[in-house]
Amino acid sequence: MSATADPGPTAGPATLQLRRISEGVHRLSSVYTNWYVVEDGGRLTVLDAGFPRDWPAFCAALGRLGHTAADVDAVLITHHHVDHAGNAERLRAQGARVLAHAAEIPYLTGARGRPSSVSVLPHLRHPWYAFYIARNVVKGVLRTPAIARLDELADAEVVDVPGSPKVIHAPGHTAGSCALLLEDASMLFTGDALVTIDLDNGAPGPRVIGGPHTDDAEQALESLTELAATRARTILPGHGEPWTEGVEKAVRIARQSGR
Ligand SMILES: [Zn+2]
Ligand SMILES: [Zn+2]
Repeated sequence: MSATADPGPTAGPATLQLRRISEGVHRLSSVYTNWYVVEDGGRLTVLDAGFPRDWPAFCAALGRLGHTAADVDAVLITHHHVDHAGNAERLRAQGARVLAHAAEIPYLTGARGRPSSVSVLPHLRHPWYAFYIARNVVKGVLRTPAIARLDELADAEVVDVPGSPKVIHAPGHTAGSCALLLEDASMLFTGDALVTIDLDNGAPGPRVIGGPHTDDAEQALESLTELAATRARTILPGHGEPWTEGVEKAVRIARQSGR
């Protein structure tokens, strides 16, 4: 992706950015939302699926990595929220399997309607959040396509896809929220179960997401115990920057900020 100036803290970086995390692990991000590509043996697993309007930039990013969308064997969705699923159906149509926890699948297929967004309205008094939501809409988040077919992820399963991620069920943000662990690399992809930015004001630091987007904030705090038990060195969240000081320290900070 060409480097363009960040339009400012209230707008968020609009262009999809590709960043190398380590050998075979790359981050894609726009509007403070991250998804990841894991490369293993020439094949790819995509963890979460970004915004619909980032599809052309995503294909270009894959090209820079020497791949095409046809090289994606699997898309693992951490949870059903639309900012994490934007390109999953397109990848499925090109031959990828799409997987999520059973509790998330009815929302992703459209069998169950997503909860009303009316509860978001009072939260728009936070200017940073209001701009963030507006940028999500510009990125096509309200047009995230339903996914025609998904397979289930089970807690503690090591998924037979490139990178062999292990599923850590971490409910709270949503009932079927999962983190994904690359054990050998000591990397934990936490989705929205643990993030490193405050989506109300852009402040950095580990935290659980509260407010209108989280089903059960108390349960989200309890699930931090499961994340800490992985003892992963690096956290790669759905929102915010990578954290490299170990999951235990991140969980300690998140518990303090969540009380
Ligand atoms: Zn979410
Ligand atoms: Zn999110």
